[in-house]
Amino acid sequence: MADQQAPKPTHPEVIQVVRQAGAYSSYAIAVKDFDAGDLIARLETPPMTITDTKRYSSVQISENQNIELNTDFLFINHSCEPSVEFHVKADADKPVIEVRAAIRKDDNGKLKGIKKGELFTFFYPSTEWDMAQPFDCKCGTKGCLGRISGAKDMTSAMLNNYFLNEHIENLRSVRPDAASKLGVRSVPSSSTNVHNIG
Ligand SMILES: [Zn+2]
Repeated sequence: MADQQAPKPTHPEVIQVVRQAGAYSSYAIAVKDFDAGDLIARLETPPMTITDTKRYSSVQISENQNIELNTDFLFINHSCEPSVEFHVKADADKPVIEVRAAIRKDDNGKLKGIKKGELFTFFYPSTEWDMAQPFDCKCGTKGCLGRISGAKDMTSAMLNNYFLNEHIENLRSVRPDAASKLGVRSVPSSSTNVHNIG
């Protein structure tokens, strides 16, 4: 018999998943306030697992590695004005992702945190170089960049104001021609790369 109950929350002290019927319609919200830059969670390996296959749920953690989050954080969708940042610490044998409240400013230039109930979102190109399944962003923010296909297709002007992980900065520094010659393009995959299993 299939288990009809919703999966048990993995980090109920910080994140709540709002499950909706239909593909890509579930989302995650904050269960408390955070200040800009606050550490929301430190995700370790395990429960994260390195994967050979890029999937809808995987996050790129180095120039050639992807990881499955295996927790509620995989329900954090993309936004062009993200509320959180995924900081990859991939230099160890056991990669870590620190999920932090984004460094954002309000209209008056003051640092803005995350309010209880606010959507958790992150900027996919901050981890993803070459997404298997690009999509047209509908985040609705003023600065929406439209088509999201990974950092490889974005200009410096588009990426300038975003936090980007080191592996993305490294890949940018050798792009575009050098990148393909050096074979540092990310792992090919036929699967989708949307971090939302809806
Ligand atoms: Zn957008």
